[in-house]
Amino acid sequence: MQDGIRDYQRARVYKWERQCIHSLCNDDPEMSLEDCRVYVREIWKHETYDRPRHVGANPPIVTDGRGRRSACAHRYRIWLPRFARRKDMLLHEIGHSLNNRIDDGHGPNFVRIIYGLYYRHLDKSPQAMQRELAHFKIDMGYKI
Ligand SMILES: [Zn+2]
Repeated sequence: MQDGIRDYQRARVYKWERQCIHSLCNDDPEMSLEDCRVYVREIWKHETYDRPRHVGANPPIVTDGRGRRSACAHRYRIWLPRFARRKDMLLHEIGHSLNNRIDDGHGPNFVRIIYGLYYRHLDKSPQAMQRELAHFKIDMGYKI
């Protein structure tokens, strides 16, 4: 996200994830930084094999983000504080790395990406997500 560009639905996306997504991973075993690297590589491979733009592209590098207030990602790197070393938060950050619309932030393109990630990798129901996104007034760029 570049400075000066308004990330208009970031708070709503965070709220949705806090209330409807995080609970899916609360009982998972703790992940080490190395576990996170393996997971990111696995998801990246799965998500990019049929996307010409990313074929052959390396996954983002996972970096120790201890001391940071939140996780953060761009195309080539993901910073992970300890509390963010869990699948749901990794998928959110991978969503940023996969998002090739640089000005999108947590906008419609990003939401479409994480919707697919949560469906494929957390087994989250698309019907439930559609209801939740409508409830939290989160824009995916089209009506389903
Ligand atoms: Zn984010």
